[in-house]
This record gives sequence, C-alpha cells and structure tokens, in this order.
Amino acid sequence: MMEDLNIGPEEKNASGLGRWFEGPVPRLFLMPAILILALTALIGLNKELLPAPAAVQPPLRPSGQEAGQGTTQAYLEPGELLRLGTRYHEDAVHKIVDQKSVFQGSLILVNQKQRLPEDYQAEQLRVINDWIDTLPPEALIVSKAGTMLNQTASDALDQMIRAAADEGIGGFTLVSGYRSVAYQRELFEKKIQKYMTEGLDRESAEQETKEIVAVPGESEHHTGLAMDLPSQEHLTLETSYGTTINGKWLAENAWRHGFIIRYPENKTGITGISFEPWHLRYVGYPHSELMQREGWCMEEYIQILRQNRGLTAKTEDGTIWQIDYQIPENGMIVIPLIVGTKSSGDGLGGYIVTAPVYRPAQ
Ligand SMILES: [Zn+2]
Repeated sequence: MMEDLNIGPEEKNASGLGRWFEGPVPRLFLMPAILILALTALIGLNKELLPAPAAVQPPLRPSGQEAGQGTTQAYLEPGELLRLGTRYHEDAVHKIVDQKSVFQGSLILVNQKQRLPEDYQAEQLRVINDWIDTLPPEALIVSKAGTMLNQTASDALDQMIRAAADEGIGGFTLVSGYRSVAYQRELFEKKIQKYMTEGLDRESAEQETKEIVAVPGESEHHTGLAMDLPSQEHLTLETSYGTTINGKWLAENAWRHGFIIRYPENKTGITGISFEPWHLRYVGYPHSELMQREGWCMEEYIQILRQNRGLTAKTEDGTIWQIDYQIPENGMIVIPLIVGTKSSGDGLGGYIVTAPVYRPAQ
C-alpha cells in the first residue's frame, strides 16, 4: 500500500526557499535544486537540438551504472503525456526513512533477484471474509477462509469487483492472497521432503522444488499486495484464463483500480516468470495506468524511475503527476507539501514519491 503521509511537527521544514539553505541538512535541498537547474537547462537544450520529440522507450539502465545517473535523458511523448526527469518542489518537508521503510509501500519490487529480508513483515493485513458480504452475490468467492490482503489492496479489490459486477462480470475467485515467509518455507520444505522420499538427494530435491514453488522471500504474495484471481468458470491457473471473459476484463480494467497483471506474456524474459493472467499486483494509481499505457512491466517501470530520477506524466483523468525517485540523504527523503502525495520504498534502497501537481477542475 501507499504510505500515507504522517509527518511530525519536528520534521517540518519551517518555510520557503530561503530557510532551505540555512537548515540542518542544506545538502539535501541543494542537491535537487542543482539537479533541477541542470535538468531544466538540458531539457531546454534538447528541445532546441532535436527536430521533433522522439516517442521512444528510454533505454534501460546499463548494468554497472548507478541509479540516478543518466538524468540527461529527457523526451516528450506525443501530447506531452510523459516527461522523464524530476522537477523542483516549492514547499517540502523531510521524512525520516530507515532500512525497514524501504520495504514498505505499494511499489516494492519482489522477484528472484530482489528477495525480501528475513525479518520482513507485511503491512496492514486484513481478512477478506470480513468485508466480502457487502459485495453483489457471487461477485467474489474466497476459496480459503481467513485469506488476507493488505488493507489498501483489499479496498482496491472491493472497488474493482464492484466495477466488474456493474458490467455483468462476476465469479472472480480469490485462491491465494497473503502468504507469510514462514508458510512459504513450510510449503517449500514439504515439497523437498516429498522429493527426497521419492529417492532424490537434498540438492536435486531442492532444484526440482524451485521449479514449482517460489523460494521463501522471493514471492510477491509475502507482501499482501498480490493475489491470484481466476474465476469459477476457469479455476485452474493456466494461461488460457487470459482468453476468458474474466481474464480479458482484468487485462483491460485492473489498472483503473491500481492493479497490474504482474507477469505479462511479452515480458517473461524480464520478470523471469511465465505469463500469469490471474496474478494481480497492487501498485496503486497512477502507476498502474502508466505501466499499462506504456507497456512497462514492473521491473522496467522501477528501472526507468531509478534511471531518470523520476518522471512527470498526465493520466487519463487530466491529473499531472510528478513522480520522484529519491535515494535518501542523511536518512531522509523530501516530500512536497501537496495534498494527496504518497511515498513508497522500492525494496532496492530508493523511494518513489508521487504527487498530483495539477488536477483539472471537476
Ligand atoms: Zn500469484
């Protein structure tokens, strides 16, 4: 889930720009300011040099290059819907972050290369059965009593299931939500033991197990932000789910509610996971819309944010979002004082700060 802003008075930066340079951590503010000045100059320069805005997907960060480098990349999408790089904040506050908070928020990346720490604890879990009764009949079935999801993700699921029901689509079945690392370890170990009783040695048994069971700490289900959502008509977790009415509806509409199809068919080389049309991941809005629209899987999206220190984008509803990628300095990140701003760790050491800098008149 997105972490709501909760900033104590002592963290508040007294006021305006003048104070920023006198504050206890002037570097924190100077750095972005200098970066932005440089960026503004470069963007201006690029505009003059380039004959026309190039609508190309930015190259992913070359291996070995540190996050935050490559910030001179700036381009405009047709209609100026997306611009890479960060902007300058007029008013901002500090937020203290630590080793734990980098694994908090709706944008944490979990995969075979980015495992969760041993002491990881999912945030704000909620039992689905507690609220499912308020949904239209048969709109959502939970196959196991006590299944939990992150609170924000579960609110988004509620909204999404209602929207589907409004269009006459029901029978979604939640077969898997939150799974603890300990439970995953149990599943994993059970499978190893089974293979060993069949005559395999420990090492081969482990290899075989890895083929079908996620390694503890490497499953997105540990976060409570992921779920498997087949339907009553297609309960098996097979790629053909993507061709059913429910599967198609999810692929076309889940982003409206902050979800993505986490393992798309054309990105298996990047995600390392085969196409799973039933596996949804909550990332929150507007990120879900941007990933869907630009055709980025989550690995690509996070990498683009890291590489460019963020981006500015306009969503379908006309809102302009400034999405900053920040590496903490002196254990702090900078949060603009804009209503609706949210922040999330990425699980890699950085923070994604999402601010609606412009909202169209209603
Ligand atoms: Zn799954």
